[in-house]
Amino acid sequence: MEQPAELLKKNFKSHLEDLMTLVRVPSVSFPGFPEKEMIRGAESVAALLKKRGLENVQILRIGSGNPYVYGERLKAPGKPTVLLYAHYDVQPPGREELWKSPAFEPTLTESPQGQRLFGRGTADDKGGVVMHTAAISSYLEAGQEVPVNVKVLIEGEEEIGSSNLEAFIAAHRKMLDADVMVLTDTNNFDCGVPAITVSLRGIVAMEVEVRALTKTVHSGMWSGPVPDPVMALSKMLASLVDSNGRIAVPGVMREVRPFSKEEAQEFKRIPFDEAEFRKQSGMVPSATLLQDGPSPLAQLWRMPSLTINAIQASSRKMASNIINDTAWARITIRLVPDMNPETVSKELALYLKSRCPWGLEVETKGHGGGEAWAADVKGPAFEAVEVALKKGYGVAPYKIGCGGSIGFVKPFADALGGAPAILIGVEDPYTNAHGENESILVGDLEKSCVSECHFFSELAARWKK
Ligand SMILES: [Zn+2]
Repeated sequence: MEQPAELLKKNFKSHLEDLMTLVRVPSVSFPGFPEKEMIRGAESVAALLKKRGLENVQILRIGSGNPYVYGERLKAPGKPTVLLYAHYDVQPPGREELWKSPAFEPTLTESPQGQRLFGRGTADDKGGVVMHTAAISSYLEAGQEVPVNVKVLIEGEEEIGSSNLEAFIAAHRKMLDADVMVLTDTNNFDCGVPAITVSLRGIVAMEVEVRALTKTVHSGMWSGPVPDPVMALSKMLASLVDSNGRIAVPGVMREVRPFSKEEAQEFKRIPFDEAEFRKQSGMVPSATLLQDGPSPLAQLWRMPSLTINAIQASSRKMASNIINDTAWARITIRLVPDMNPETVSKELALYLKSRCPWGLEVETKGHGGGEAWAADVKGPAFEAVEVALKKGYGVAPYKIGCGGSIGFVKPFADALGGAPAILIGVEDPYTNAHGENESILVGDLEKSCVSECHFFSELAARWKK
């Protein structure tokens, strides 16, 4: 009898065809795009789940949100239950004239990295759907049962912020109960080099306004003795970081969780290409890389950062010889584990007020925020996924972070408190998700499917209730 992973490789073409079928449905979730395509999108996923051996397949809705698709196969008594997530909604195609092949007509093309399948949603995230169905069906085709219990949940609102996900999980809490979650919507480190995303930064946003005058006045008549609010705000903003760009607000840095030994080791192992980083970010050639931490990648993923997003006082167009009445800015701080958004917000507001010169009036307005997230990478689930990815790709995965946030992670993590969340995916640096000519590297999709197939058996073997 053939092994599931071997059978998956042999039958991979049929899974690639599954992906093509999904991509042909233009399930764009953005407002203004036809809702009937979202229904068709959900139906195409439901049909695929049924075809690939999932049971109790349902299309579920909450309120006016786009449909969710659910299916399960619970035939491994005593073994863990794994909740498998992906999303079938996609970004709008963008500028159609820039597509080299039609956005919703999947097209195979040779590329320097190997064969790629072009089309909106190939990688983000219909490829993630196929990872689950290919891995599950490979066992059934081999005449075996899936070695763990699987529940598949495919969302239709990820690209518009997953705003109903929390309510959906709460409404179906028991149905979705699981010991481990696998969320397939993140990127790999490079073509052929897998990654597990183990941390996401959170965020706090704040507006600050400095008032010096009840009205804008002529600078010739009043400047000198009358304080300038733009100058005051500039001094305040400049005091937020030190000469190396490091956050200088004392209360903000106090809570930062130090790197664990494992993290520090991993950051040393992950290669960093400065020239490539500069090119990708678009830094001007003379600009200095602001370094704080073991490597720029560690800094990007696991250190807090402060950015001034906007400043306003008069405007380029209206610039004239005046003293402005007020000056305004919006500040954001990216948070890392153990930083509390409320504390950070409070400390930032206090600090800004303490730094305002000349007795001017300061008003701050916080805009909520979200905590950072970090996976607990110890335990059988992470061991299993590391082994599985190495088997699937032939290369050990890197444990990477993400400088931004992913909306669907926290609702799952909060609802299934304690269950490890594993973030993996099929995107590579050339995927161009959200842009025109999105594509997936066919070889990497196959390796991802094979890895997930191995994951089920590696997890079953390691699990002790
Ligand atoms: Zn996505």
